[in-house]
Amino acid sequence: MERVGFVGLGIMGAPMARNALRAGFPVTVTNRTLERAKPLGEAGATIARTPREVAERSDIVVTMVTNTPDVEVVIFGPEGVAAGAHDGLLAIDMSTVSPVATREFATRAAANRPPFRTLDAPVSGGEVGAIEARLAIMVGGEESDLKRAMPLFEALGKTIVHIGDHGAGQACKLANQIAVAINNLGVSEALVFAKAQGIDLERTRQVIAGGAGSSWAMQNYAPKMLAGDFRPGFMVDLQQKDLRLVLDNAYSEHVSLPGTSLVHALYTALQQDGGGREGNHALLRVIERLSRIEARQR
Ligand code: NAP
Repeated sequence: MERVGFVGLGIMGAPMARNALRAGFPVTVTNRTLERAKPLGEAGATIARTPREVAERSDIVVTMVTNTPDVEVVIFGPEGVAAGAHDGLLAIDMSTVSPVATREFATRAAANRPPFRTLDAPVSGGEVGAIEARLAIMVGGEESDLKRAMPLFEALGKTIVHIGDHGAGQACKLANQIAVAINNLGVSEALVFAKAQGIDLERTRQVIAGGAGSSWAMQNYAPKMLAGDFRPGFMVDLQQKDLRLVLDNAYSEHVSLPGTSLVHALYTALQQDGGGREGNHALLRVIERLSRIEARQR
């Protein structure tokens, strides 16, 4: 089996590395805050100090960090993956970052000495999808590299789709984020409206989740909203990072996205209220405040 490395062991990276271990891959991991790597070490992974060391010990390296500059530093920084590149190395970025920068990274990897291959393979499905190995994986890059990565992807996810060339996976992920954010707003408004109508919120949620108003957000976020549990999952700050990427790309392509612009502004209000590190579904709080109605079961 190919030796697999993971750089970035946050909410997503840690369970993904654990699933690669479970599938039998020899796994090496690192994390900026090295302390967070300990549980994976106890589960059988080798802990390396830097992304460079991870690359030296691996055939395939997965990066799962926050934003575009973070991917750049863990791949091309002085102690980055590129510094540990060797013949046959495949670097797969599974973070959500800029499609434009992703294409540049592929060009830089091909010009590296020695050169290495890249794929962009951002994911959807949230923390629960990462833990249960049920992620949707959107792949950009060459077919032959995807074929090689497929056994690893199958250990991490259920829906694996080759979207196109380098950057296409990231472009698809941004399209996904538009749907996620607007669905989240729909669920928030539905629950606040239902509360104002004086109807039972849990029964309302159940029946909507079984009909045409259902969505991943209705199934996964609404129960947490009703319980008043706003721990992340997927942080508001990360959602805003993604919507910023969407709106920047929409601006340069002259695409009008009124729903995304609105939901981005609502998330900004949430950040201003100190909710940046809460779960994405804390968007409910903004809608509650607008009408002074709390849609909670408690
Ligand atoms: P997270 O819990 O905040 O983890 C981020 C990880 O990146 C941490 O390990 C962090 O290290 C590392 N990191 C950040 N900046 C770095 C830098 N400059 N150098 C080295 N390491 C750095 O975030 P997450 O929820 O796992 O998300 C990771 C990526 O997946 C993001 O792009 C996010 O948009 C995407 N994503 C998330 C979800 C979700 O539901 N959470 C779903 C789909 C996609 P430290 O531990 O030292 O901070």
